[in-house]
Amino acid sequence: MSFNFYLPTRIVFGEGAIKSQAERIAQLGRRALVVTGRNSAIISGAMADFEALAKKHGLSWVVFNDVPANPELNTVASAVNLARKEKVDFVVGIGGGSPLDTAKAVALLATNNIPAAELYEHQLPKAPLPLVAVPTTAGTGSEVTQYAVFTLPHRGTKKGFGDERCFPNLAVVDPVYTYSLPWEVTIDTALDALTHAVEGYLSKRSTPLSDTLALEAVAIFAGEKEALVDGELGPRLRRQLMYAATLAGIVIAQTRTTLLHTLGYQLTFNYNIPHGRANGYLLAAYLEFVRPARPEKVDKILAALGMASITEVKDLMQKLLPPPGSYSQAEIEQMAALVAANPGINIVTAREATKQDLLKMLQRSLA
Ligand code: NAP
Ligand code: FE
Repeated sequence: MSFNFYLPTRIVFGEGAIKSQAERIAQLGRRALVVTGRNSAIISGAMADFEALAKKHGLSWVVFNDVPANPELNTVASAVNLARKEKVDFVVGIGGGSPLDTAKAVALLATNNIPAAELYEHQLPKAPLPLVAVPTTAGTGSEVTQYAVFTLPHRGTKKGFGDERCFPNLAVVDPVYTYSLPWEVTIDTALDALTHAVEGYLSKRSTPLSDTLALEAVAIFAGEKEALVDGELGPRLRRQLMYAATLAGIVIAQTRTTLLHTLGYQLTFNYNIPHGRANGYLLAAYLEFVRPARPEKVDKILAALGMASITEVKDLMQKLLPPPGSYSQAEIEQMAALVAANPGINIVTAREATKQDLLKMLQRSLA
């Protein structure tokens, strides 16, 4: 057996986790840029916790609270300008994946004096500013990955970049920050985490260690699926989903995401479907597609989900999600053609997909 596993992020998990990290955070810098969305930092309670800690330790901070869902690079550029103007020396991302990804890109561009568009071009010379990530959704796992995903209108899709120096220094993972999440966002983000675990488990880059974490994440999700359907969002469910999302994030940090995510980006880009929800629509068809290449692994996922067939996966998605809406053949063809033209799609996905395969997957998922 041989494998490679890299996770340079310190993870502190649990209720009130930030309180124990004051000294560590104060060592990262003296003046922070807090990168967040319109409301999430405030209503989750994470901002108040950070402010209390910062005041006690004599840290100063400025807030950039203008990150929308599925951010574009112009948001990154605005936040970088603020970081430079205010001479901050570390970054704190608070929120769902959108603010956390933005915080990563800002930390990297604040030290490298280049336009945001060049994030995708080449490895930048200078290391990023130190970064603390405080998730307020239980989904993306961005707090434990080296990736950041942005909407690129000129490319007609969303695209991620990855840089090992972009792993946050510290991930403060407190399930209490997700108590204020509405039911729909809870479901959408839980399905993002589930698909990270599933795709990571089926990725060509999976390892014995990432597989252990992935199956555990799937099993934890399975234990909460009925409560999710029923909308019983108690502390136990919050804790379990946060833990599963963290595990699944660690998995994709090793394996990357696969074809399912690339297809999902099309649904988000073209129809504004939330990221995790788009993935949920695609999950059953993706499992069907990959099954011939990895039959035992697909069966293990079903077993971990407590299900006998892929049809049950589809049934669960129908219970959790609103109907996907209606799409013309031309719209589906266009999405399939764009994804088929992406040379990266078959690098880590376990089975090579043709344009016909993509069409079929989209048709089944959106029916
Ligand atoms: P999000 O876009 O960050 O947030 C979705 C919505 O939830 C926003 O309206 C946000 O409000 C709200 N919200 C967040 N926390 C809340 C809380 N505690 N209480 C109430 N509302 C709250 O959603 P996300 O699913 O977490 O992130 C999706 C993004 O992450 C996508 O761009 C996706 O591509 C990316 N992603 C990244 C990775 C990675 O490895 N880096 C992996 C998967 C996905 P505000 O507007 O106030 O913030
Ligand atoms: Fe994702």
